[in-house]
Amino acid sequence: MSDKAHTAAELLRELFPESYREMFGERPLSAPPTLGLYPVADGRLALVHGDQLAEFTPIAQKGTTALHCDLCHHTRSRSEAQIYRVVVGARRTRYVTLCTPTEGCQQRAGQRGLEALADHIFPIENIYAE
Ligand SMILES: [Zn+2]
Repeated sequence: MSDKAHTAAELLRELFPESYREMFGERPLSAPPTLGLYPVADGRLALVHGDQLAEFTPIAQKGTTALHCDLCHHTRSRSEAQIYRVVVGARRTRYVTLCTPTEGCQQRAGQRGLEALADHIFPIENIYAE
């Protein structure tokens, strides 16, 4: 066993055990997800790409202008989309707008859309390192 075997599924299972069970049941770790957005607690989303994981935290929305989804690129009303904050480094934060719920949005975006989003977010600086 090596530390390199720490997969996205293992990370998810460790960080969000309840969500992991909801998403994958008792699926064996030999078939982990490689790319996707997964709803976790408190309205947050987890973006998983390989062994990387980012947490999307919903933020309060002001105003009434339409929102543009950064994943499937549809225009949405305020009630159909959510703005998320993603901390990608000690002093770097990205804001991402996504449709709610995320399932249809990911289907519209497809693998390429998700890859583009992952490229926008990752790599995340390890803010807990010295
Ligand atoms: Zn969307």
